[in-house]
Amino acid sequence: MATDMFTRVPITEQDPKVRATNFEEVCLGYTAEEAMAEASRCLNCKNARCVQGCPVSIDIPAFIQEVKAGNFEKASRIISASSALPAVCGRVCPQESQCEGKCVRGIKGDPVAIGKLERFVADWARENNIKPEPATEKKNAKVAVIGSGPAGLTCAGELAKMGYDVTIFEALHEPGGVLVYGIPEFRLPKQKVVAAEIDNVKALGVKIETNVIVGKSITVDELMEEEGYDAVFIGSGAGLPRFMGIPGESANGVFSANEYLTRSNLMKAFDEEYDTPINPGKKVAVVGGGNVAMDAARTALRLGAEVTVVYRRSEEELPARVEEVHHAKEEGIRFNLLTNPTEILVDDKGWVKGMKCVKMELGEPDESGRRSPIVIEGSEFEMELDTVIMSLGTSPNPLISSTTKGLEVNRRKCIVAEEEFGKTSKEGVYAGGDAVTGAATVILAMGAGKAAAKGIDEYLKSI
Ligand SMILES: Cc1cc2nc3c(=O)[nH]c(=O)nc-3n(C[C@H](O)[C@H](O)[C@H](O)COP(=O)(O)OP(=O)(O)OC[C@H]3O[C@@H](n4cnc5c(N)ncnc54)[C@H](O)[C@@H]3O)c2cc1C
Ligand code: SF4
Repeated sequence: MATDMFTRVPITEQDPKVRATNFEEVCLGYTAEEAMAEASRCLNCKNARCVQGCPVSIDIPAFIQEVKAGNFEKASRIISASSALPAVCGRVCPQESQCEGKCVRGIKGDPVAIGKLERFVADWARENNIKPEPATEKKNAKVAVIGSGPAGLTCAGELAKMGYDVTIFEALHEPGGVLVYGIPEFRLPKQKVVAAEIDNVKALGVKIETNVIVGKSITVDELMEEEGYDAVFIGSGAGLPRFMGIPGESANGVFSANEYLTRSNLMKAFDEEYDTPINPGKKVAVVGGGNVAMDAARTALRLGAEVTVVYRRSEEELPARVEEVHHAKEEGIRFNLLTNPTEILVDDKGWVKGMKCVKMELGEPDESGRRSPIVIEGSEFEMELDTVIMSLGTSPNPLISSTTKGLEVNRRKCIVAEEEFGKTSKEGVYAGGDAVTGAATVILAMGAGKAAAKGIDEYLKSI
């Protein structure tokens, strides 16, 4: 296959018109030939900058050289030494601002498609039944991990590789956290990809107990004092949705993006074989501009709605990945930018009938460095709608912090933990991922899980 060294080997995607009506995966991935051609663009740099951009420090040049040579199993072993969820990360990590953002190939052309190569290798390993190897020597200590999202799975997997006896306690009936309840099937297939990578974590010896709400079914103190766990990792995420606090927000037809996506993804409302109710709406506005907003908008579109994203800043400030915005536009999602809702309009039966909005303009940058939106006087207008999905960010649920003695949280209810090893204010308790940072990314949660596993190992060796 001919390769222009400055241009990425293109990847096949489902046609936008077709995929807007189904929940099949949008991106179809590289073939072996395409992956080897793309890998041949890598310069195998010494002190590679791409590795510095990877929060779990995958040896990127080493795995890419193996792909180039067609040694896919070796490539997969190199990746799994650092990452428990490569098929997930290859699909959803914001590589453009991490490894690929630092790739030297990006100075004069397209950076190497590291994420797509990682995805290829992980998919190849799954299809060829390559499993990670469990620890041969067991250690005599028990660790409880709360939450089975990327932070919890990574921390558990790392500890199991070190030989610890690890049990994950998960509140929901299925493990995976946002990977199963938040990110939709068309970006991240649940059975084929997420369940298979969770099986790999289990193959390392990790046990997973679902339907256990720590703070209600059992507390952190009980796990340590009565159940004999020597250390605890809290990776309980940030699943509590925020609302705007505007009139009409409690009307029927107003959802949080979390609820809308959970019904569709985890409870399979999109699948005709399930009878989970969802009110998909015909004219839907999604308020917000992050990845979650794009997922909610694209899900509503696939469920048959006409969808508009309403965001108070301009396109440049949209926090969602560029790829997601591009896909959303291709599929027919409309964007009403520099627009802010002021009231949800409700009919006499209590259902949404529209939304009052104002137009905004951008002023001076605020403390986050982004230009703050200012209302344009007299710009009020109304949108006719039957459904509004609020996607304004989430914060950690205070259930665990309020039921655990001596666990410090900050004013945003995030658990206070040292960045290096995730140590909290309570002895033997570590934390990481969205529960500590607030809503962030899969790979940052994984990086925190990995760091905390090191911290827990040091702690257990010291007692
Ligand atoms: C719709 C959506 C799309 C996203 N898209 C992307 C993307 O494209 N790329 C990206 O990098 N990031 C994305 N993110 C963000 C990313 O998914 C999160 O940052 C990441 O999942 C955080 O991992 P975590 O392990 O800290 O928490 P979570 O994934 O939230 O997992 C926490 C787990 O803890 C469980 N839990 C909570 N409380 C308790 C309790 N009391 N007892 C027991 N279990 C409990 C929860 O049920 C959950 O399973 C997205 C998020 C959402 C919501
Ligand atoms: S920086 Fe780019 S070219 Fe260099 S090793 Fe990493 S992926 Fe290859």
